[in-house]
Amino acid sequence: MPYAYDDQNIFAKILRGEIPNKTVYESAHSLAFHDIQPQAPVHVLVIPKGPYVTYDHFAAEASDAEIADYSRAIAEVCRIVDVAPGNDGGGYRLISNAGEAGVQEVPHLHVHVLGGRVLGRMLKRFDD
Ligand code: 5GP
Repeated sequence: MPYAYDDQNIFAKILRGEIPNKTVYESAHSLAFHDIQPQAPVHVLVIPKGPYVTYDHFAAEASDAEIADYSRAIAEVCRIVDVAPGNDGGGYRLISNAGEAGVQEVPHLHVHVLGGRVLGRMLKRFDD
């Protein structure tokens, strides 16, 4: 199935400079900025600059250079915001929501970097 990218999504507008953002880190193929509605003391979004909707889209169509850059950008953000455990940070959680079941709000691939407090269990048991 081809992946349809909507270039009017909010992160595409951020990448074009049409909407401001609080940048944490930028590299050749990636951008990281603070989430507008943080759900933890540290809540940063890391996005690839290319037009990818979800992680599976990115993995299927991005170049090796983009994939390496994005993977390292996420780790660099963890260091910058001081949540990388080896850096005296308290640890972090990465989340990437995709599609309807994943309850993805913005259709441009993003990884949430969350930390700064104990985050609790990831999900409730599905049969609770
Ligand atoms: P999703 O539910 O798609 O995984 O997450 C989308 C995230 O984007 C949400 O956490 C939401 O707060 C954030 N967000 C939505 N609009 C904006 C915006 O204009 N600027 C920033 N920095 N974050 C946004």
